[in-house]
Amino acid sequence: MIHVFNTMTRTKELFTAIQPGVVNMYVCGPTVYNYIHIGNARSAIAFDTIRRYFEYSGYQVNYVSNFTDVDDKIIKAAHEAGISEQALTTKFEQAFNDDTKPLNIKPATVRPLATEHIDEIIAFVVDLIAKGYAYEAQGDVYFRARKFPDYGHLAHQNIDDLEIGASERLDDGELARKEDPVDFAVWKGANPDEAITWASPWGPGRPGWHIECSVMALKYLGTTIDIHGGGQDLAFPHHTNEIAQSEAHTGTTFANYWLHNGFVTVGDDNEKMSKSLGNFVTVHDLLQDVDAQALRLMMATTHYRRPLAYTKVAITEAIQIVKRLQTAYANLAFRVQQADAVQTPDVDFTAQVNAFKVNFMQAMDDDFNVANAMTVINDFATALNVYANQAAVSALTGQLALDEFAAEVMVIGVDVQPVANDDDTSWIDEQVAARDAAKKAKDYAQADAIRAALKAQGIILEDTAQGTRWKKE
Ligand SMILES: [Zn+2]
Repeated sequence: MIHVFNTMTRTKELFTAIQPGVVNMYVCGPTVYNYIHIGNARSAIAFDTIRRYFEYSGYQVNYVSNFTDVDDKIIKAAHEAGISEQALTTKFEQAFNDDTKPLNIKPATVRPLATEHIDEIIAFVVDLIAKGYAYEAQGDVYFRARKFPDYGHLAHQNIDDLEIGASERLDDGELARKEDPVDFAVWKGANPDEAITWASPWGPGRPGWHIECSVMALKYLGTTIDIHGGGQDLAFPHHTNEIAQSEAHTGTTFANYWLHNGFVTVGDDNEKMSKSLGNFVTVHDLLQDVDAQALRLMMATTHYRRPLAYTKVAITEAIQIVKRLQTAYANLAFRVQQADAVQTPDVDFTAQVNAFKVNFMQAMDDDFNVANAMTVINDFATALNVYANQAAVSALTGQLALDEFAAEVMVIGVDVQPVANDDDTSWIDEQVAARDAAKKAKDYAQADAIRAALKAQGIILEDTAQGTRWKKE
């Protein structure tokens, strides 16, 4: 029974899927005008962890997350780089995929682009005008925020407090074109110098930022979705406006649960991560010298609603934890594969594994309480080590434990299983076998020489009662 904290009601609520066994979730993706920064990664990791937990719990998750590939920042960045908007966005869409892969962020079920949905966006805006929720003004189209009951509820703001700073593009007279300062653009008429425009019933222009998410969530997930997610800075105005547009269009609830992740701070200050503060850290740069699995673990194991402090100390700790989890897995995996492993189940250890699963789920069911889940995982790792040292190990129960352990750790996005990468390690096994043969022949000088040669290449040998195994330093 999963409970989630719903920003709309500000309470933890029992999660009930619209269609049993299926979660339809929409998470706002980045604007692709640069490499993603650590704040974007935090949001992607938070919702990937949530998605993975639903999948672990047996749900099928339809995960839709967009790329905003047309907006002021893109137009400006493309102009500065002297390339087309499309060349710029294609480059950074690819960069997003490259940077999120090592962080074990699963690809979205659908990753729609705003520019590929212009016809649907125009049809949506036409409908909003027909229903009296939107109006055209000199090539722009605005949404009448005050006409939508409860506007601002999500961000727990009163509409009269929202007027200051509510408008965008004030510099070119947008405010004068609006009936009311709280109205927001669903379609923007093209400025004379803009190259990227589409024909519309209101003249050449492009979509307002918020409208794409309403259109694409409806198209790919249906009228009412289960979960809508994003960074807490999106609650107003972005999500507030998505709700107004979508519910004006469909006449029903847009999303049943609203989940928002907290900010990232870098270093010791507690300022919100943003480019303007000068502490803009891109994941692309970070991955040059920070272990991706450690970064993933560090970001996934801070509760998604809490602020996350990115510090060197936190990364160093995360590296140790990842290593410990992988070692625990390797220790038992080694025993399970040995010829002396027992081929019958171990009742006591099975009960232990089941208890870890129950405790893990109890933690995660409580609005994805990763801190408590990590306590369970750490205890589980200890139990794997203890079991691996027993005289007799059940191959069946050992494998069951390994699979359950790997599945739990994978929910937080860390892979404890040996990676099937390009590294061919068969030469190490050959050296280990050669050393065993030398020892058997009592040629200890040769055996020591092999051990030393491997050590020089960063391979450590461990002689155990069950044979020799190796690990990387
Ligand atoms: Zn959005």
